[in-house]
Amino acid sequence: LTDTERAVLDEIEEKDVDFLRLQFTDILGTVKNVSVPARQAEKAFAEGIYFDGSSIEGFVRIQESDMRLKPDPDTFAILPWRQKEESVSARMICDVYDTSTGEPFEGDPRRVLKNALDRAHEMGYTVNAAPEPEFFLFEEDEDGRATTKTNDAGGYFDLAPKDLASDVRRDIIYGLESMGFEVEASHHEVAQGQHEINFEYDDALTTADNVGTFRTVVRAIAAQHDLHATFMPKPIPRINGSGMHTHLSLFTEDGENAFHDEDDEFNLSEEAHAFTAGILEHAPAITAIANPTVNSYKRLVPGYEAPVYVAWSDRNRSALIRKPAARVPAASRVELRSPDPSCNPYLALAVMIHAGLDGIENDLDCPDPVRENIYDFDEAKREEYGIDTLPSNLGEAVDALEEDEAIYDALGDHVSAKFVEAKRQEYKDYLVDVSDWELDRYLETF
Ligand code: GLN
Ligand code: MG
Ligand code: MG
Ligand code: MG
Repeated sequence: LTDTERAVLDEIEEKDVDFLRLQFTDILGTVKNVSVPARQAEKAFAEGIYFDGSSIEGFVRIQESDMRLKPDPDTFAILPWRQKEESVSARMICDVYDTSTGEPFEGDPRRVLKNALDRAHEMGYTVNAAPEPEFFLFEEDEDGRATTKTNDAGGYFDLAPKDLASDVRRDIIYGLESMGFEVEASHHEVAQGQHEINFEYDDALTTADNVGTFRTVVRAIAAQHDLHATFMPKPIPRINGSGMHTHLSLFTEDGENAFHDEDDEFNLSEEAHAFTAGILEHAPAITAIANPTVNSYKRLVPGYEAPVYVAWSDRNRSALIRKPAARVPAASRVELRSPDPSCNPYLALAVMIHAGLDGIENDLDCPDPVRENIYDFDEAKREEYGIDTLPSNLGEAVDALEEDEAIYDALGDHVSAKFVEAKRQEYKDYLVDVSDWELDRYLETF
């Protein structure tokens, strides 16, 4: 066993952990877990834990279903919301292995992200990422089912954790901190019942792990308060939806920010400009992964602080990519504003990174930033500026993913094919459904 693995075994002993939840995600980004008694930890490290992969979305065909989970000891954390009960549970995030070959399983989203990071590494970079997940807190009805009734009437304001008006946000932040998160800021978002909690940036793999943990903690602690936390991108029409802006930068092996250049007008290096150009180039295919639900496209409409137009800006927030002001060189970065929190964070980071690296590898030219509010442009003006629009529905986005060889291949055939198949079906189901809007509009009119 490694030193970190031994340290985890000691901690299990010390803190009297009863159960271990071994976690991984399916292609859609849902966190799955297998619970084992904590005394199995040593075996889990040494041999892995076997499970049947045939029942996990997009994993394998029935006839080749044996998978092995290998826990990553760096991700060990005690689950805060089980503390009050008699037993103590901890979790570890796992890598998935194919038992027939002994190799990492190509359908494991964490592996797909690791491949992107390997590519960055070969080019001499490490990748830092920070997400800004937004979510709504809704009341439950008598049967404990989620409603879309918000539990507060607040608007946009900033609060430090200790001043939190609402117990639930405070408890969520304590929960996150006890799992090792460094919460930077949290605030009530623009919409009623909408919140955002920002945590410290980290290497991209840790950040993807953190997004999964974040969603689990937020939901579990909201539920303790009889509230339903949702990461659905647009739960209420005609008000802001929930995004997950993602900040990215590349660092060199010796810890310098490769995105920073003192002499550039925007303090962005050539790499940063080419990376930005790569994301703009591959934006339609990225959208399929970063905005993977039918509902995602109800958010990507003009007027609600969500991006629609494929452009970048150092000023305004109507563009797809923003260059935030950086107070120190280490903070020079780009912010992609399209992702929403229904995405699989491993796959979303993987496609953003591959697109950006593709821009660097092919030395793509970055267009000029757009400094006006693009929501106000008409089609002619957009054409004059050469600004494309993002796919306007899931069907178009999936087409774009299929047509973008660089991104499709970067995800690996297994993940791309399973993803496209699942999302085509989802979109088809939606198209044949009849919505409340249609009934309201037509039932009595015709
Ligand atoms: N909620 C907005 C979105 O959909 C973002 C608002 C903000 O953080 N400024 O992306
Ligand atoms: Mg924010
Ligand atoms: Mg926000
Ligand atoms: Mg932001």
